[in-house]
This record gives sequence, C-alpha cells and structure tokens, in this order.
Amino acid sequence: MLKINNLVKKYGSFAAVNNVSFELGSGQAAALLGPNGAGKSTLIKCLLGLLNYTGEILIDGENIKSRSKTSKSLISYVPQEPALYDMKVYDLLMFFANLRKQQLSKIDEVLNQVSLLQHKNKLTSELSGGMKQRLSFAISLLANVKLLILDEPTSNLDSESRNEILSLIKELKGEGHTILFSSHRVDEVMQVADKVISMNDGEIVSIENIK
Ligand code: ADP
Ligand code: MG
Repeated sequence: MLKINNLVKKYGSFAAVNNVSFELGSGQAAALLGPNGAGKSTLIKCLLGLLNYTGEILIDGENIKSRSKTSKSLISYVPQEPALYDMKVYDLLMFFANLRKQQLSKIDEVLNQVSLLQHKNKLTSELSGGMKQRLSFAISLLANVKLLILDEPTSNLDSESRNEILSLIKELKGEGHTILFSSHRVDEVMQVADKVISMNDGEIVSIENIK
C-alpha cells in the first residue's frame, strides 16, 4: 500500500535521505532502524508532506504529491514527544474528533484501544510519560487512516512504558493497521516488526522480512 521510489532529501549538498526505496504491504508493521542522524525523521517528514524531496511516494499507487489535500486523511502521525494541550483527556479527544468530523462515540473506542478509558477525566498534565504517548496514539487513531507513522515512539520512556507501547503497536497491527515506526533499538524492532528497514547516513543498508 506504501511504495517509495528513489527518495532523496538534500539540505544544501548534504543528502539527509539518499536514494531510498522500499515497499510496505497493507497490514504490515515496518521498522526504520538506524542510529541518530540516519535520516529516519527526515524520511518521515517527507511522508507527511512537510519537506520537499525528489523521488516518489505512492499510497495505493497514487502519488501523494498529486493528492496532497487527501494525504492528510491517509496518514496519521505520532510524534516523538507528545505535544498535548493541558486539558481533560476526554475534552482533548473531543476537540480532535470535532476537527476531524468523527462521531463522539469514537472517543471511548480509541480510549479503550489504548487502555486509557478509566483516565478520561484526568488532565493531560496528570498522565505519566507512557500514558501521554498512548493518548497521542489515541488522537492519531481517531481518524480512519491507512497508515500510522510513529517516530521513535518509545525513546523517551522507561522500560515499563516502553513495553506497553510495544504491546500497543502489536495490538494495532493485529487489528489490521499498517504501521511504520522508527527506532534505534534492535531489540524492540525484532519484537514488533514484520519488516526491518535499516538505515545509516541517509541510505538503506538492508531490508529484511522477519515475519
Ligand atoms: P534520525 O531521525 O535518524 O536521527 P534525522 O532525519 O533527524 O535523523 O537527520 C538526518 C541528518 O540530516 C542528520 O545528519 C541531521 O543533522 C540532518 N538534518 C536534519 N534536519 C536538518 C535541517 N533542517 N538542516 C540541515 N540538516 C538537517
Ligand atoms: Mg529522529
């Protein structure tokens, strides 16, 4: 469902992403694995339409540049550091549900998916790091998107919260979501991903199907 052909993103003469090509099938979970500076976030920003690039990004065969208005409804994104307004969990989700013209019944559904239903009347500032990250997932699940992109979803979390997020990614995959997440940790990538795309210095080093 996702196909990337010869993607290049340059800053001046420096290629942060250099000639990257890979495919991702519907329902697959793929990991972008690589150390800091490998180009993972830059690649993700290209997918989100936030940066200019050369090459092609196709979703279901259609170039996202030619349908930029709808690409936002195809992809949702969980940032590395959740940026959440300080309001009640439920109210925050209501804000995003209204923005995306989703029914309010969807709010309890996504809260249940991320195991935050019992915390829906808490302020976001009262949540732990892992809970904030799960809330960020819930926001991205409100829209019915084809592709969920997570940039280093576990990097700022303690080991318990990290395991919660890894389980959540597995669950979402089980529900049929197509997921692309980045990580610099081989161990977590091996736990969750069907496909591992290893990057270094902007280039793909290897692509392995592990499941
Ligand atoms: P990763 O997410 O894998 O850690 P990034 O995609 O953030 O890597 O960065 C890849 C490379 O591109 C790094 O060398 C980084 O310094 C460089 N880079 C990222 N953003 C910019 C920018 N706005 N201007 C210049 N260089 C950048
Ligand atoms: Mg990054």
